[in-house]
Amino acid sequence: MRWFNHILISGAPAALIAPSLVPVVVLGATAPDWLEWVSGALHKQLPHRGATHWVAAWIVALAGGALLPGVAGSVVSAFAWGGLSHCLADSLTVTGVPFSPLSDRRFHLLGGRLRTGGAGEYGVSWSVVLVCWMLAGQFTGSDGRYIPFFFNWSQRYQDGIATAKEWRDNRMKFF
Ligand SMILES: [Zn+2]
Repeated sequence: MRWFNHILISGAPAALIAPSLVPVVVLGATAPDWLEWVSGALHKQLPHRGATHWVAAWIVALAGGALLPGVAGSVVSAFAWGGLSHCLADSLTVTGVPFSPLSDRRFHLLGGRLRTGGAGEYGVSWSVVLVCWMLAGQFTGSDGRYIPFFFNWSQRYQDGIATAKEWRDNRMKFF
């Protein structure tokens, strides 16, 4: 799957939950591929969609991040979420990914029917963005904090800042 789509799929939920961690998530979302380049540069070339694409390894990293306290835990979790989303997204494609070193079988989600670079993967990634954007409309922070994707007119209306007309005119403006 293309990096553009990996970034959308991992970044949109992250923007919803923890906007400040989006850069770390993006780094993680591309890591399974760039780690292969790093391994090549170190003359220990890993096979494409090999060890860096083990789904189980990223799940373990995510669980580890959840156990770590403070900022370190958040950063590890964000990076691992990015990596896990990359592997799950790749598992939608025909080639699939390895689940763990214990099995030679390729792991596929939803039958693994997408072709890399095809319209299907763009459809999946924009669907994720759309769902996150709709969810963002539900998470209306009353403290006026930054709301990703969604300029929060309904909250402003409720707060009495915007008039009903302003809200109606602006609620469908997203960016
Ligand atoms: Zn990949």
